[in-house]
Parts: sequence; C-alpha cells; structure tokens
Amino acid sequence: MLDKLIHKCPTCDGVGSLVAFINRGSDIATHSLEDIVCSTCGGEGRISDKRAMRISIGKAHRDIRVARCQSLLEAAREQGMGPAELSACEHGRGPDDWYRAVEASFPASPVFSGA
Ligand SMILES: [Zn+2]
Repeated sequence: MLDKLIHKCPTCDGVGSLVAFINRGSDIATHSLEDIVCSTCGGEGRISDKRAMRISIGKAHRDIRVARCQSLLEAAREQGMGPAELSACEHGRGPDDWYRAVEASFPASPVFSGA
C-alpha cells in the first residue's frame, strides 16, 4: 500500500526541486546553478506521514547529539554503525529498527509521543 503524501516536504518547502551549485572542475566558467529534483520527496513536493516522522525523529536525534557535543563519528561508533549510515538515519533514510530504537529511548519526548 502506498503512503499518502500529506506533508509539505521540509527540504524543498513543497516545490519539488532545489537550486544546486554544480561544480564541474577547476574551470570556474563551467560551474552553474541548476534546478535539481528534491531527493527527499522525489519531486512530489509532499511526503508521507511515515517519512515525516522519520525526519522528525532523525532531527531530534541529531539535535540531542549536537547538544551533547558528540560528533557524528562518535555517535555512530557508539551505535555500532558507520557515520554515513547514522547520517542517513538522521536525515530520515534509515532502517525502521533504528527509528523504533530511538523512539524507545526517548519515550517522554513530545516528538516521539505524538503530542
Ligand atoms: Zn522535496
């Protein structure tokens, strides 16, 4: 079953695309600004409830980690994963188990209780 796309994409603010600086090497004349499809919503401008929750949980995890002055690498090692994997989780692109574990570790937070 497909999830309904009910939330405005937080990355592109519902536009579906972003302006990106394209670096084509050492010749500055070849650089450009171009519209690219938003990788968060795939160009739809909207995301599902599940995706929005994953992004919220990931952001809360990152905010708490940064408040603790813990680097991405330190937190990743603590969780037995690589920094790229943890970064993906914090940006809403991780496995379901990670979000369940984070939710379980912060049950009193309004972000996780749905309040
Ligand atoms: Zn988007």
